[in-house]
Amino acid sequence: MRIEFNRETCIGMFQCVDEWSGFTQDPDAGKAILEGGDESAPDRFVREVPEGEEFDAEMAARVCPVDAITLYDDDGEQLVP
Ligand code: SF4
Repeated sequence: MRIEFNRETCIGMFQCVDEWSGFTQDPDAGKAILEGGDESAPDRFVREVPEGEEFDAEMAARVCPVDAITLYDDDGEQLVP
């Protein structure tokens, strides 16, 4: 499972941080941080979700109010949003 984070869209409500430890807070910027994410484009970050953390990562994506988090399965199919 792959997770993508659009930092530009993020409005820093931090619901994702409560759902999955892959996200932490950057309170100064008012944005989440995708820990271990590679910057694939300006303000776009991507990483693999470790085994056993898929459910939490999916919850993080689902609670984001602005759809800043996108999840893909191993076949590249978009799961969330
Ligand atoms: S839930 Fe969405 S808007 Fe809120 S901090 Fe996380 S990525 Fe940003």
